[in-house]
Formats: sequence, C-alpha cells, structure tokens
Amino acid sequence: MLDQWIASRIGASGPLTREALSAWQLARLRAVTAYVRARSSFYRRRLPEGELRSLDDFAAFPFTTPDDLRRFHRELLCVSPDQVDRIVTLRTSGSSGEPKRLCFTRADQDRTAQYFGRGMAEFIRPGERVMSLFPGESPGSLNDLLGRGLSEELGSPLLVRFPAPPDGCDAVLEDILRERVTALVGSASLLLPLVRRSAETGRAGALARQVDSVLLAAEYVPEEVRQELIRVWRCRVNEHYGMTETALGGAVGCPVPGGYHIWAGDLYYEIVDPDTGLPLPEGEEGEIVVTTLMREAMPLIRYRTGDISRFVPGPCPCGSVLPRLERVRSRPQPKKFVPRAVPDVL
Ligand SMILES: [Zn+2]
Repeated sequence: MLDQWIASRIGASGPLTREALSAWQLARLRAVTAYVRARSSFYRRRLPEGELRSLDDFAAFPFTTPDDLRRFHRELLCVSPDQVDRIVTLRTSGSSGEPKRLCFTRADQDRTAQYFGRGMAEFIRPGERVMSLFPGESPGSLNDLLGRGLSEELGSPLLVRFPAPPDGCDAVLEDILRERVTALVGSASLLLPLVRRSAETGRAGALARQVDSVLLAAEYVPEEVRQELIRVWRCRVNEHYGMTETALGGAVGCPVPGGYHIWAGDLYYEIVDPDTGLPLPEGEEGEIVVTTLMREAMPLIRYRTGDISRFVPGPCPCGSVLPRLERVRSRPQPKKFVPRAVPDVL
C-alpha cells in the first residue's frame, strides 16, 4: 500500500490516518498559498487575503483554469527562469488559441519519478522487465521519470517501444516476447490493437504465459478494453490517472477494482459541481479540481481538470485510508473513447 510511504513523506508518527492526512494537507495548503502569494503575480492578484482556517475556507478560493495556463503562464511561474528544468507545451483546443504551458524544476520531476517507482512497486516485483509503449525518452519525459523510478525503487529496467508505423503491432509483439517483458505500460488505445493482433496471429497464448501485468495510463480506460486484456492475455490490469498539470502523477488504481487511490502527499483533490463550481458532498459525481501541494516551479491552486469522477465513500477493502476516486471519465464526451493529446505531452 502507498499509505506507509505517504505516512513517512508527511512525517506521520505511526500508521496513516485520514485525520493526520487532512491536518497535514491543510497545513500544506496554507504553505502553498503563502508561497504563491509571495512569488506569483497571478495568485497575488487572485487569492483572498487572510488566514486559511479550514478546508471549507479553501473551497471558497477561486479556480485556476486551463485558459489561465494559456494566458498567464509567465505570471504563474514561482521560480526564476534559470531554475526551470522542463517546459511542457500542450497544444489543445482553447479559447485563446495559445498552447498551455507548464514548468517544472528538477525537484518537481524527482518527486514524480519517486512516485512512479513506488506506484509500480504496488504490482510488480523487483527486477521485472517493464516495457513502455509511450513515445519519447528525453529528460523529464514520462519514460525518463518512469525509468528512473523503476530503477531506483525496484532495480527494474525500462524498455521503450512506441508502436508507430512502419513497424506496427507485429514487430512490437515480437519485441515483447523476445525481450521477455512481463509488465507493460501504455494507454488503452495503444494496448487494444496489440492484444487484438496477438489473438489474430496466434500469439495470444505466448503473451498470456509471459505478460503478468499491464498498466493503463494517460487516457480514459473503457471497461471493454480492460476486460479484453484480462480475457486474452490473462494478465492483471492496473490503471493510473494523471495529467501533465499534476506532473504526470495523480492516482493509482487499487488492487480492489473500482477506485484509484490519490497521491495525497502531493495533491489535494476536490469534486465540484461542473456548472456552479460549488463543492459536492462525498460520493456525488462532479468535476475533479486539483491543488498541487509540493510543486516548486508552477503550483496550481484549485485547477479545473474538466474530468469527471467522484470520491468512493467509506473505507477501501484493501485497507488503505487514502481517498479513492472512482474511474475517471472525460467531461466533453463522456460516453466516447477520447484519447488525450498524448504524444505532445510526453
Ligand atoms: Zn484500496
């Protein structure tokens, strides 16, 4: 469980409790709001004065929107430009036509690498051979951070194999078998053609004997894709929710299906009514709003993700006290399979 790791990260004495987590998060929210008020002209202008007394007080703070990341990225920056180690440009649709820009320090990226390593340790064994189907290996990319986390936490190598033309699925399937890969990381839209092609070409049995687990990330996961992977490759399917705005970390699927445990040592999540912006009671479905608790370069206060989910009420059967998000779905076209703009963000 991530609980023990997060307990040590937040300095909790003894096992993690929901009360200790909430108290630590409130203290961090106070620290983050003081930090951004001192360093970001955007937040100095926006945030109300006065002491943050409770999480309810915080729920009255204004939102940060994707449009703000397009229009005010310079004013959102909280460090000097020479401390920025990575800039990510997201060319998605927006009212201003400008891309969203996000900046990260080296420490921001190190935290994600550690979280990736710990998250993967939830379902793979040390030394397992892991292959990423996501593109890109530049410093600070998803594959770079995942590779660092795997190496530091588990001593596992990360092989990178983006199934792009002209190689296609057959070459990738051969590589998986030849490299004795036991764990795959990719998006649902990258994995689905592979699993189908393996069945068409008589390789499904070999894959099923070898591949032990698949981690689906970066986009909405339709239940039918999960079920097809389980049926054809007879593997465990884990899921991860994250986005560039949260430094790629976010929430990791619980072994008990139906929930993602949030990366509570770095992120504070709220669920709000998408139309009114008002906080919703636990268990009600609404828009995910996220606040970064540890970010140096560009902390985000109450960022509207546009994604829809709810907190699953009650304790998790796995024993974790970390809040659980239900499977996340995208807001604009909730019933359709809409990949995020993955290649551009990695
Ligand atoms: Zn759980």
